[in-house]
Amino acid sequence: MFNDKVLEEVKKKALEDHIPIIMDDTLEKIKEILEEEKPKRILEIGTAVGYSASQFAKFTDDDCIIDTIEIDEERAKEAQNNIKEIGVEDRINIMVGNAVDILPNLDNVYDIVFIDAAKGKYPIFLEYGIKLTRKGGLILADNILYKGYVMSDYNKHKQRTAVRHLREFIKEATENEKLETEILEVGDGLSITRVN
Ligand code: SAM
Repeated sequence: MFNDKVLEEVKKKALEDHIPIIMDDTLEKIKEILEEEKPKRILEIGTAVGYSASQFAKFTDDDCIIDTIEIDEERAKEAQNNIKEIGVEDRINIMVGNAVDILPNLDNVYDIVFIDAAKGKYPIFLEYGIKLTRKGGLILADNILYKGYVMSDYNKHKQRTAVRHLREFIKEATENEKLETEILEVGDGLSITRVN
């Protein structure tokens, strides 16, 4: 049985621990998408403590499986405990390691790929997202506007590399003829890309 109370506790603890989890309005938009698309297989890049993956499990049918990748072993352990306590352990597979190394070895086909990890790797995540998403499926990417820095001409050194890669992602997602992309100003920016 899905334990909503534990899910709320996971959210509260993540916020207290300053772990960046999906924002409420972004989640609300993705909930709408999941209810409409009815995916059977989702790939998430960036598990953190399993909050968004558990929410995705809640918003999809019982036969929808979620594969999720996390580079940080401690977080992945916490995520494993959380998904067990929430009651979605049999729906979520956590893969521990760098997504850049794991993605080339995946051979599943996904209805939805959700990108929510290192911003500097977004172009690589998009490249694999295209390979791993079925025709007609969706690639969603969170934090695509990165607090507005992506739209700004002046960025501090610290953000410059991430901004350059996020712009590269947006260019490919909007100019590749196989892709149809819209960018929403919800949360920190959410891109929705249909793979044709
Ligand atoms: N999706 C989560 C949620 O909303 O509950 C939040 C994910 S958090 C924004 C990003 C996570 O991606 C972090 O836990 C970080 O350790 C992980 N990460 C960063 N780079 C990664 C990589 N190259 N491969 C796998 N995970 C990565």
